[in-house]
Amino acid sequence: MTTMTGAAPDTRSFEADVAKLLHLMVHSVYSDKDVFLRELVSNAADACEKLRYEALGKPELLGENPEPRILVTLDADRRQLVIEDNGIGMSAAEMTEALGTIARSGTKAFMEQIAASKSGEGGQLIGQFGVGFYSAFMVADHVDVISRRAGAETASLWSSDGLGTYTIGESEGGDWPIRGTRVVLHLKEEAADYTQRFSVEPRIKAQSGHVPVPIFLRENPY
Ligand code: ADP
Ligand code: MG
Repeated sequence: MTTMTGAAPDTRSFEADVAKLLHLMVHSVYSDKDVFLRELVSNAADACEKLRYEALGKPELLGENPEPRILVTLDADRRQLVIEDNGIGMSAAEMTEALGTIARSGTKAFMEQIAASKSGEGGQLIGQFGVGFYSAFMVADHVDVISRRAGAETASLWSSDGLGTYTIGESEGGDWPIRGTRVVLHLKEEAADYTQRFSVEPRIKAQSGHVPVPIFLRENPY
């Protein structure tokens, strides 16, 4: 489990629609769990693209770490899958907004469609409606998101079991990314295969073959 070194984190409730969406995704959507890989890799790639764009006007944001990359770490001993990017990152306020509310319109329509959809259709709907992050909870019973926005001194930790609340806090020390976002999936027992290279590598190729940022895969780093 990732620990905070700063002040005690705040516990907050998900917006009601997010809680409903999470419940739907975890319990009734469909069997194609691989969708979470595509969604988290696509968020990581989007973050790299956003940084590239912001850095056109502010090249100092790139620092000594200019090449975009996505790093996927498999940790069988801890039953974790970690997806990390060196993109734009998020402040605590941005994480609260992006990962706790559904700001975009169309959420209700998404929920209606997904409730009515056949088992194979959910994966498409998730990407289409912009609710991809929450698909992490199809395979994880706990998710930590550690993020440092480009140019920021501090990093923040968002943490949730997807059941109704999350915690959010700031930190200045510890094992934080220099810049960007690390999503730590504490995998469910039945999702333990996602710590095995033979299982994950072909799935990433299948789901994210066209992502314009290099993806590196490593095992048991500790
Ligand atoms: P979408 O990608 O369609 O906006 P998601 O549910 O996949 O919907 O992600 C919600 C939001 O969370 C994104 O729009 C982005 O602001 C933020 N986000 C998620 N992952 C990352 C990441 N790795 N880096 C920066 N921001 C992220
Ligand atoms: Mg997304």
